[in-house]
Amino acid sequence: MEPIPCVNCGTFFIPRNCKQNYCTKAECQRARKAAWQRYKLKYDDDYRTQQHLSQQKWLQTNPGYYRSYRRRNPDKVKRNRALQTIRNRRKRHCHSRKNLADNALIAKMDARKFCHFNMVGQFYLVPVIAKMDVSKVNIYTISNRYL
Ligand SMILES: [Zn+2]
Repeated sequence: MEPIPCVNCGTFFIPRNCKQNYCTKAECQRARKAAWQRYKLKYDDDYRTQQHLSQQKWLQTNPGYYRSYRRRNPDKVKRNRALQTIRNRRKRHCHSRKNLADNALIAKMDARKFCHFNMVGQFYLVPVIAKMDVSKVNIYTISNRYL
């Protein structure tokens, strides 16, 4: 199998099968698991319910956790407020339109292309926040040692 770039770190690796998109580094495996969990929470009602119940149970045994977390991480509080403002704006924008499906952004996560020619560099634009008027992306440089 040909080497492919890892979806998380961008380094080339040889996948075990055609479904493997992440390399074996611990941080990339964590990113893969987080992406899987985001997907499950979004589309699996049973999983979402179980996670919610589990979190409620944990919170009952750890009261005041989030209050102290917010006190310890003021930058995260600020970031969350900004993101919530964007989510609220998107929600209002979606409700103002009749066709919600047209407003949904589609991101193809497994798109990849292996180039056999020499090129200066390749960048993947990974959307962090899907929004109509703001495009925030992370740019990863991909090693060209296999080119
Ligand atoms: Zn990786």
